Amino acid sequence: MTRRKIVAGNWKMNGSSESVVELVKGLKSNDAVDVVIAPTFVYLPVVSDALKGSEIKLAAQTVSEFASGAYTGEVSLAMLKDFSVSHVILGHSERRSLFLETDAQVAKKVLATLEVGLTPILCVGETLEQREAGTTLDVCNAQVDAVLELVGVEMFDKVVIAYEPVWAIGTGKSATSEQAQEVHKGIRDNIAEKSLEIAQKVAILYGGSVKASNSAELFAQPDIDGALVGGASLDAKEFNSIIESAK
Ligand code: PEP
Repeated sequence: MTRRKIVAGNWKMNGSSESVVELVKGLKSNDAVDVVIAPTFVYLPVVSDALKGSEIKLAAQTVSEFASGAYTGEVSLAMLKDFSVSHVILGHSERRSLFLETDAQVAKKVLATLEVGLTPILCVGETLEQREAGTTLDVCNAQVDAVLELVGVEMFDKVVIAYEPVWAIGTGKSATSEQAQEVHKGIRDNIAEKSLEIAQKVAILYGGSVKASNSAELFAQPDIDGALVGGASLDAKEFNSIIESAK
C-alpha cells in the first residue's frame, strides 16, 4: 500500500513575526508530499496569512482538550480553525516531560482534535533508558494504545503518528533507518491487531535529528511515511531538501 509522504516542521518556541514570514517565503512545496509547518501559537495568524495560496499546511504545537471557558493561558481547537490550522502536534516529548502531559490527557486532545475535523500528529517515543532496557516497543505501543482505546480503531486512520525517540530529539543523533523501521513496523503491527485495513492506512512519521543528509535513507524504509523535523525545519534550504527527498 502506498501512503502519501508527510514532512512536518516543528518550529517550537522560535522566531519573530518577521523571521517566520521570511522562513515561509523560502519554503518550496511539491505536489508529491504533504508539507506542514508548526509555528508557535502567537505567530499562527501571520503565518496563516503568509501561506495564502500555498499548498503548505499549518499546524499548532499543542491545543487544549477543552472547548472554551475558564482555562487561563490555553488555546482552543475553534481558535485554531479560525486561522486555517489543519494539523495539531500532540504528546510531543517536551510536552510530556516538561509540562507533565499524561497519556490520558494526550488521548483526550487527540479525540477532541478528530471531533472538529483536524488532523492530530500523535508523538510517541522511548527514552534512552527505556531503549537500553529493551522496552522501546512496549513504551511506544502503550502510548499509542492509550489513544486507540479512547478514539477507537475506526477513526484511527485520521491520526498521524510520529515516532520520536526522546534520545534523538535535538541531539544530532538520529536513530538509524533500521532502528526506526523496526519501531515503525512494531507500531503498525500493533494497530493491525485491531484492524489490518486501518494499520495500512496510518501514516507513521519519524522524528529525531532528521536532516537533509539522512532523510532519503529514512524515507526509503517501507514503514516510514515522512518526518517530523525540529531544528532543521528552521532553515528553509535544509527543510526544502528534506521535502525534496520525500518525493
Ligand atoms: C522534534 O522536536 O519534534 C524534533 C524531531 O526535533 P529535532 O529534529 O531537532 O531532533
